[in-house]
Amino acid sequence: DKVIFNGRLTERSQINIDLEDRGYQFGDGVYEVIRVYNGSLFTGEEHLQRLIESAESIQIKVPYSISEMKNLLLKLIEENKLFSGIIYIQITRGVSQRNHLFPSADVVPSFVAYTRELQSPTEAMEKGVPAITLEDIRWLRCDIKSLNLLPNLLAKQKASEAGCFEALQHRSGTVTEGSSSNVSIVVDGKIKTHPATNLILNGITRQVLLDISRKNGLEIIEEAFSVEEMLQADEVFLSGTTTEIMPIIEIDKQKIANGQPGPVTKQLQVLFEDKIKEQCGL
Ligand code: PLP
Repeated sequence: DKVIFNGRLTERSQINIDLEDRGYQFGDGVYEVIRVYNGSLFTGEEHLQRLIESAESIQIKVPYSISEMKNLLLKLIEENKLFSGIIYIQITRGVSQRNHLFPSADVVPSFVAYTRELQSPTEAMEKGVPAITLEDIRWLRCDIKSLNLLPNLLAKQKASEAGCFEALQHRSGTVTEGSSSNVSIVVDGKIKTHPATNLILNGITRQVLLDISRKNGLEIIEEAFSVEEMLQADEVFLSGTTTEIMPIIEIDKQKIANGQPGPVTKQLQVLFEDKIKEQCGL
C-alpha cells in the first residue's frame, strides 16, 4: 500500500520515522480518522477542519490547506483502491533533539496518512452491545484530538476484559463520552447528549446526528446527564466514525429498558445511512 509522508505519496516500506519525532516521544501531535464509503470521503472537510483546529490549539500549524489535504487523500484512496475503510491522518510537531520545550520555528511538522480496509459493524449495530461505566481520568482538554490516548486505551481495555464494547466515562457521576465514541440517551422520545465543551471530543458523527435529528423532527438537546439517568433511560447509543450509530443494550450488567435496540436509535441508524448514501452515493 501507498502512504502519504510529508506531502508525498510513497510506499509504506520507504518511509522513515525518526526516533526523535515528537509524536513518538511525547505524543506531541494530533490525528483524525476519516471514513471512506464507496471510495468517497464521508464528512472529509469537517474532519480536516477539526484536524487544523486541534493542531492550532496546541500551536502546531498544519503546512497544508484543506483542499491540498483533500487532494492528497483522494489520490491515496485511488492508489490503494480503497472502497470501504478508513484513512488515518497524523500530524506531529516534527523532529528535534528531545526537549520538553517546543523546537525552533524552522522545524516542520511531520504529516502522515495511510488507509485501512474496514466494513461497517453491521451485526453489532443490529443487535446492540454491552458497555461498562468508568471514572473519566483524562485531562481537561478532551476537545483536542490529541495523540495522548493512554486513559482511553486503559478504559477500552477494561471494557474488553469485561466482555463489553465500550467504556462510558463519567466525571463524578456526570457522563462525558466513550473511550472512542460519543454517547447519547433517549428519554420520553427526546435525545440528550453532552454539550460540546472541553470535556468531550465534539464528534463529527455527533454533529451529523444533531443535524439529521433536527432536520427530521426529532428533539435533541445538548445537556449533560448522570450515570443514574443513563441507566434508567429508554435508549442509549454511541456515535463515532467507525462505531457509526451503535445501540447500547446493557450497562454494568444492567439491561437498558427491555435490553433491545430502541426505535429512536433505529430511526437514527436509517437517517445516518441515508446521509452516507447522499454523500458517498452507496
Ligand atoms: N470521542 C472520542 C474520545 C473519540 O476518540 C471519538 C472518535 O474516535 C469520538 C468521540 C467520535 O468522534 P467522531 O464522530 O468524529 O469519530
